[in-house]
This record gives sequence, C-alpha cells and structure tokens, in this order.
Amino acid sequence: MTQYKMLINGKFVDGAATLDVVNPATEEVFATCARADLNQLNEAVAAAKAAFPAWSKTPIAERRKRLEALSADFKAMHEEFARLLTEEQGKPLPHAMYEVGGAIAMIDYFAAQELPEKVLRDNENERIVQQRAPLGVVAAITPWNFPVILLMLKVPAALIMGNTVVIKPAPTTPLTTLKFGELCAKHLPPGVVNIIVDQNDLGGALTSHPDVAKVAFTGSTETGKKVMASVSSTLKRLTLELGGNDAAIVLDDVDPKVAAPQVFAGATMNAGQVCLAIKRLYVHESQYDAMCEELVKLANETIVDDGMKQGTQMGPVQNKQQYEKVLGYIEDARQRGKIIAGGEKLNRKGYFIPPTIVRDIPDDARLVREEQFGPVLPVLRYKDVDDAVARANDTEYGLGGTVWSNNLDRALGVAQRIESGTVWINKHLDLPPDIPFAGAKKSGFGSEMGVEGLEEFTQARVINMSKAPPGAAHA
Ligand code: NAD
Repeated sequence: MTQYKMLINGKFVDGAATLDVVNPATEEVFATCARADLNQLNEAVAAAKAAFPAWSKTPIAERRKRLEALSADFKAMHEEFARLLTEEQGKPLPHAMYEVGGAIAMIDYFAAQELPEKVLRDNENERIVQQRAPLGVVAAITPWNFPVILLMLKVPAALIMGNTVVIKPAPTTPLTTLKFGELCAKHLPPGVVNIIVDQNDLGGALTSHPDVAKVAFTGSTETGKKVMASVSSTLKRLTLELGGNDAAIVLDDVDPKVAAPQVFAGATMNAGQVCLAIKRLYVHESQYDAMCEELVKLANETIVDDGMKQGTQMGPVQNKQQYEKVLGYIEDARQRGKIIAGGEKLNRKGYFIPPTIVRDIPDDARLVREEQFGPVLPVLRYKDVDDAVARANDTEYGLGGTVWSNNLDRALGVAQRIESGTVWINKHLDLPPDIPFAGAKKSGFGSEMGVEGLEEFTQARVINMSKAPPGAAHA
C-alpha cells in the first residue's frame, strides 16, 4: 500500500502518526499518509517563515520561471494526478481530468501575473504610488470536494506575489495535495511550500499561529466562523470561501426540455458536492410538472458507479459522514415532500446515492433551508418572479445563482436582484481564472482569482513623496 509523506522544509517526512485514506467507491483503505502533530505543524510554519525573506526578494521573473517549470511537470503528470483524485475523491475520471486541467490553468494564469506599482498622483509637487508587498506565511486550508483546483486558487497566487505557504488539505482527500508536494520540492526552494495533514485537529493551531500572516480558507460556513474567531487575536488577513445554497430561477419563457439538462448538470455535478451547485430550483407554476418530468428522466438515466469505470457519470459521495448527512436530508424530504426520482442509497459497497429529485416540498424543509451538498434537488413552484426572487434571497448564504430565460433583459433584471457574489445567466459554473470569485452574506468574503484574488495575497503600501526638498513650501 502506498504511503504518502508530508513536505516540511523541502524534505518528505513521516508523520507523528498515520492516516488511512478510503476510496469512497469501495469503502476500502487504499493508501496511508503521514499525519502531523503540533510539533510538525510548528516546524512547517517555522520553515515557511525562514524561507520568506529570500523568496520574497527573489525577482518575480525567477519566481515565474519556477512556477512555469512546475506547471510543465504537472502537465506531464496530468493523468496520474487525475487517477489519484478519482481514487481519493470519487469523481468520474473524465471529471478528475477536467479538474486537474483547470488547476494547471490556474498555475499558468497566476504565473503570468504581476501587480505593477500604481501611480495614484504625479504632478510637479508630488508623486504618490501604491505598491504591493507580500504578506509572509500564508496558510492554505482546503475542503474535500475539489482538492486540486481549490488549492491552485491559493498557492500559485500566494507564491508569485512572494509569500511562502503552509498547506493543510482535508483529511479525507490529502493525497493529491501531498503529490503536489513532489512538484514543489523539485521546483521551489526548501520551506517555500510545506504540506501537513491532520485529522481535523490542527486547523485551529494553524490559523491562530502568530507567524502566519494570512489564512486562505475554503470550507463550510460553520468552520469559517471558527477560523474568523481564531485569526482575530493576531489580526491576520483572511479570505473565506464558504458554503452556499444557490438558487436557480427558470423563467416561464424557457422550454423545460431545454433548461432541464443544464439545470440537472448544475445540481448533480461532482455528486452535488459543489459549493456553487444548484441547490434549490424555482420553476414557474405553468411549467412545474413538465420540468419535474424532464428531471426525473435525466435522473433515471444517470449512470452512478465507481469513477474509475468507463461510462460513469456520477461517482459516490466523498466520505461516510457526508453520505449519512445526505441520506438524512433524503429521509426528511420523504416526510415533507414527494420524492420522484432516486431516494434510496444504492445497495452495494461505496457511498453511492443516485440523483434524487424532490417536488412539492415546503420552503421551511431542511433540504430547502440548509446546504445539502449532495445529489438531491428540491424543485419549488413559484407564481411570479418577485416571489421567486424573494424566496431565492431568503437564505443566510450568497455564493452564486443562475437565471434561465430566452429574454436577456428579463434575465438581467432578475439577476441584478439576487444577493450573491456571482450570478450566471443561461450558463453555470463558468469560472475563468481572470474573473474574481467571492461570496456574499455568510458564504464568505474576500476574492479568489483575477487581479482581486491576487491582491488578497499582498499588503498595499502607499508611498507619498514630495518633489520639493525638505522644508520647502509647496507651490
Ligand atoms: P470543512 O469546513 O469541514 O473543512 C474544510 C477544511 O477546514 C478542512 O481542511 C478541515 O480539515 C479544515 N478545518 C476543520 N476544522 C477547522 C478549524 N477549526 N480551523 C481551521 N480549519 C479547520 O468543509 P468540508 O466539509 O471539507 O467542505 C465542504 C464545505 O466547503 C461546503 O460547505 C462547501 O460549500 C464549502 N466549499 C466552499 C467553496 C467556496 O469556494 N466557497 C468551495 C468548495 C467547498
């Protein structure tokens, strides 16, 4: 059985303990990896702190060259990474290939960026510029749904700006991150990137560590609140990419046959374990029955199986805890609404739940109020658009949302009223690297991707310079 090691100060190290990694399609342990204790966490932060002065002073062209070389090796290992991702995460191999491809594209995007000095004012008396300085040690904490790409929204952005990094992946999907360590060890000086693994027990020590300057966190809203409390004593910089309960609103001018496949894909991709998945679907009453019928057809046609098997369209839920949580939502939905597709776990090994469609469910049901994070979609009936918008916004979350219409003006009118960080019209999950992504309300704050995402890894420094010698009066 392969044993994966952590990366601390350029060395691959065993942990104080080990962690079993389970394939969610088989429920079997297929690898083990090192698990850190507090001492190793402190060593990782110390290594990143020690590497910071030299790395931050390394010319950006040199940092870029190293990231480009790392990316070239990553490309050569694309499929190897994808296979490991499917094994630890469960998603179908073509989707894993797509995620790894997207992650490499992120590295390439960030490697090409810089934040040149901005001239804010320049006249005969004065010159005022804004520069961007790195922050220091960044803690990058990731969840288990997209362990590879979510890491690459953080690490290359931090590195190109001159920061050093301590990574902590989710305990159920640590392997692709540890494998990324091999690329870091080859292409970056010791200590610039360090990777530790925990069992959900070291996050607090990392986020409160006095030598960590910034926390870039992706995970649930509940953990996000703990992270925010934990960074407060040291006033660290913080980005929080948290949970969502995104609504899709289908306007009454769209044929349900046309909208259903896109909506269905947006709700069930990655077995529904997408922060920006469609988690509530609002359909006009005139089309409600037709839309439900279309969704049932799509659900029943979906091939749910081991992600390694050719032809699989949906894999298992990633871990046992989430699997049981999703089954709990289904049980509640059975009481409160009508399950018209799926609704039973598959009778086999693995955390398999087929796409489940629920209709006639009230707005106060758990499946509608909470983030299900699984392949279970409530379909809700609305009378008029105002009603749909009000209900879509009646949530503590504000990550994304979609509007579907043949009339772009109408769609835009609705999109502008949705309280979230991203709203798509007639498309979904389009996340190009140069477009900033941020949550509203309890879905978090601070951007990732784009120039805004890069700026989050820097401190702005204004230099306000008089052109007159000291003591001379301004003209
Ligand atoms: P989680 O919050 O349980 O865990 C996320 C990470 O935080 C893991 O690495 C975990 O080990 C770590 N962690 C746990 N306790 C911690 C603590 N006290 N301090 C610091 N770190 C701690 O989330 P999850 O279950 O792994 O992921 C699913 C959630 O992530 C969903 O809510 C989903 O919507 C959200 N998510 C958000 C985005 C986004 O970009 N907004 C993207 C993907 C997932």
